[in-house]
Amino acid sequence: KDFRNKVKPNWCPGCGDFSVQAAIQRAAANVGVEPDNLAIISGIGCSGRISGYINSYGLHGIHGRALPIAQGVKMANKDLTVIASGGDGDGFAIGMGHTVHAIRRNIDITYIVMDNQIYGLTKGQTSPRSDVGFKTKSTPTGSVESSLNVMEMALTAGATFVAQSFSSDLKELTALIEKGIEHKGFSLINVFSPCVTFNKVNTYDWFKTNITKLADVQDYNEENRMQAMQTLMEHNGLVTGLIYQNKQQPSYQEMLTGYSEKPLAHESLQLDEEQFNKMMLEYM
Ligand code: SF4
Repeated sequence: KDFRNKVKPNWCPGCGDFSVQAAIQRAAANVGVEPDNLAIISGIGCSGRISGYINSYGLHGIHGRALPIAQGVKMANKDLTVIASGGDGDGFAIGMGHTVHAIRRNIDITYIVMDNQIYGLTKGQTSPRSDVGFKTKSTPTGSVESSLNVMEMALTAGATFVAQSFSSDLKELTALIEKGIEHKGFSLINVFSPCVTFNKVNTYDWFKTNITKLADVQDYNEENRMQAMQTLMEHNGLVTGLIYQNKQQPSYQEMLTGYSEKPLAHESLQLDEEQFNKMMLEYM
């Protein structure tokens, strides 16, 4: 399976988003998804371009709205593997309401966030993931707002799959995306994806110095939510690996009563009004 297309990414050389693109392509191939059975739905930002760089269905949506579109795609065609993607500004600022409710809804899609702790496309402003004191053109004397700990937030919102990785660790990132795709429910994967052009603080070297891999934490159990929260707090959120997974909780689709086994996308549209209304009632 070849998930490459002929479009040349216009990310800056060294941008962390290149690795995320490669990891999605490898993970999709490894789990046996076909290109015509994969949909990548992205928001706005440098990272949002990713949907055009992978040989699959793709939709480059609007700012902060990748998740509502992705959830609609999955509900219309449950046979598709659906990946939503975007940046930290996209998902944790304007799109935060969608993120929290998609998490608690546990709909069976994967959400990959390229977290560079800055707005890159608009040339470098403070984001919800920027640290206190971070200086940009929007905070010339340093940000006074605390950085949102998204992994703790996800656990609190009831996430059933919470993972974090680093663009420099393609092997770990690929393995986590594979697990996320295979997870029966909503999987959130936050990726430290350095913006080499505008973020001169949270660089590749900075992450290499500050990250702790959960594989190196003794007796870490990803099914223990309390331990997950405690470990995140101890390391100020700077851990990578599978942080938490709950395989018991049924997905949104499994919880719905009367949800049709036949994808809506496969229904014939040659319907008169009465037939159309009958079909819509079946899906309510
Ligand atoms: Fe990547 Fe930053 Fe360049 Fe955007 S501005 S492509 S995030 S390095």
